[in-house]
Amino acid sequence: MKNKRTKRFLFLISLLIFPIFLLGFLSFKSIRNSAIVIETQYYEQLDQVFYGITEETQKMNEELINNLNILTVKKLQLGTTLTRLSRSVVKNDFPGLESVVVWDKNGKIYPRLNPTRDSSDNLLNNGDLPLFEQKLIPIQHRTDLKKKHLQLRVKRSYNKKLSEKSQVLNELGIIKLLYQTKSYAQCIKRIKRYHRNFQHSTLYIDLLELKSYTKLGHFSKAYQIGYQSFSNIFEKHQLVDLSQAQYVLEEMYAHLLSDQKLKEDERKNLWALNENIKNILIDAKVYHSNYNQIQQLKKQLSKSGTNSLSVKKNSTWFLLHKFNFEGQKYIISSTWDLNRLNPWVIKQLNITRPTWKKNSFQLFQAEKLLIDQKFNYSNVVYKETPFTQDSPFDGLKLYKPQESEIQNMIHTRSGFLYGLLFVSFILIIIGATFVLRAIKKEQKLLGMKSNFLSSITHELKTPLTSIKMFAEMMQTGRIKTLEKTQEYGSLIHKETHRLQLMVDDILNYSQIDQGVIKVNLVEHNLMNTLNNIIIRVSPIAMTKNIHFELQHPGSAIIKADPQYLESLLQNIIDNAIKYSPRETKVQVIVSEIDLYYEVKIIDQGIGIAKKEQTYIFDLFYRVGDEMTRKTKGSGLGLAIAQSIAKLHNTQITLESELSKGSTFRVKFKKVPNA
Ligand code: ADP
Repeated sequence: MKNKRTKRFLFLISLLIFPIFLLGFLSFKSIRNSAIVIETQYYEQLDQVFYGITEETQKMNEELINNLNILTVKKLQLGTTLTRLSRSVVKNDFPGLESVVVWDKNGKIYPRLNPTRDSSDNLLNNGDLPLFEQKLIPIQHRTDLKKKHLQLRVKRSYNKKLSEKSQVLNELGIIKLLYQTKSYAQCIKRIKRYHRNFQHSTLYIDLLELKSYTKLGHFSKAYQIGYQSFSNIFEKHQLVDLSQAQYVLEEMYAHLLSDQKLKEDERKNLWALNENIKNILIDAKVYHSNYNQIQQLKKQLSKSGTNSLSVKKNSTWFLLHKFNFEGQKYIISSTWDLNRLNPWVIKQLNITRPTWKKNSFQLFQAEKLLIDQKFNYSNVVYKETPFTQDSPFDGLKLYKPQESEIQNMIHTRSGFLYGLLFVSFILIIIGATFVLRAIKKEQKLLGMKSNFLSSITHELKTPLTSIKMFAEMMQTGRIKTLEKTQEYGSLIHKETHRLQLMVDDILNYSQIDQGVIKVNLVEHNLMNTLNNIIIRVSPIAMTKNIHFELQHPGSAIIKADPQYLESLLQNIIDNAIKYSPRETKVQVIVSEIDLYYEVKIIDQGIGIAKKEQTYIFDLFYRVGDEMTRKTKGSGLGLAIAQSIAKLHNTQITLESELSKGSTFRVKFKKVPNA
């Protein structure tokens, strides 16, 4: 029987161990494989960064060109009439965008101005007007000299022998001096005279006329002059010196604004006009100062099949591209200030992909490093790419991480996986032990049950056979004397009593076990119960010559259910007698320990082996030795006793040594002040 059980047990274990080992082996293998996966994943991630950056820069280029196209369309729509120019401002506010030039198939359409030096201003001061003004300042303080100078000039102006060039120069000098001596009305007159006599109209003369009118407070006149002057430039696309125009524009704008009576909307219009004209002048100026460069690029673009071309010179980026709008083909040339564009670009890159920060890469711009994000990485370039012609960057280099970096990552990852595997093993083993223990327990219980059944049937059968036998004898009338009848009667009574006790035990236990029974705890003297039991068991003890000893403190009042308490103690005391050989001693000692009364039942019996001690309170459990087998029992007594103890909020403990004896203890709480 035992052999069979062990075999079954081993079979179960092998059932568990085999899958565990298989699982372990497979996991181990897959972790080792995952190292390779981690490495490839790492490079996949690197690829993603690479394509991410290229994609992002591509997006930025698109945004940049989109903005440029929108601005161009707005500029074209704004036109050149002063009324439109004073309506609203077309802003150039994309970071770094400096200027725009547009051609259609017939030629340049924006800005319309084709600057050149105005000859009359050349005569004056090589066209450098601000310098010219400065030179006039010292004369201001020497009024006498100035007047003399003026008279001389005026005289000279009537000298018909002078060449026209000298006459113009002379006339301009007179006008200037008149303005400087604050003879504004005369200055205006002289300007009118100049216009009558000479063809040369200069912006500077217009400015002096405008200034004189503002000094005299004739703002509407001043406004007319300014308006006329700029419509000549912008509506008729007159040739102009751009720096001079810009200077004059600013001067005129400042003077016109000094009109106190200017209304809010007029001020706004004036501002819009000033801003728009300023932008057109800047566009024209940048174009003309980079004329050769842009023309060369434009030629290249026209010849090439590409849509855009760009070149970087110092911190300026020239970007030319073809643009289709409303069925028309245009070429747009733009110049960018990289010092202003780059911070925007870098910000954009950092916002969109913060994860890139972990990778080493470099972004190039005209051989220079724009973004140099290099960590402790190897110098091996993992991937590199040049950018398209419409990009402010020239190329990207992504570096490979150090080999050790990848190895570290693999180590940490596989370390984690091994840890996980280890924990799962431990958990499986713990789980399996629990399962095995449960199975073992179940097996034991099954064994105990069958043990119980065979012993109980035996127990039931013996009294039943005697009862049956005596009853038959009485029935057949074989018993003649009254004495014999009485003797058999009392034997039948004894046997039925034994049967009843056994059946009661079984019922009791099942009721307690199912939790049906509720104890009724009352104040009760423990000694009463013990005395009752001793009276009952003494005759049995005497048959084995067992000496009974009771030590007690007189009375011991506890809270208990008297009926169950008796059953509990009776079971232990019964056992003490049952499992003790003849001529021994059983002691029942009641003592006070702090808040408790403790009952100790000490015998000098067969004792219980250490390994059996945990089981003897289990249901149907009986120690399988010779002595136990000889005694009658069901394995129910101690299980019932322990359940009752639990109902009294206590428990039975045991100390025992094989062949020496056992001590059972149970403690009950004292009733205070009883
Ligand atoms: P049983 O009906 O077999 O006595 P119990 O539940 O009362 O059932 O006891 C369980 C087992 O514990 C007994 O079979 C016996 O082996 C052991 N046992 C109980 N009390 C003692 C004791 N005082 N000395 C030795 N063995 C004992």
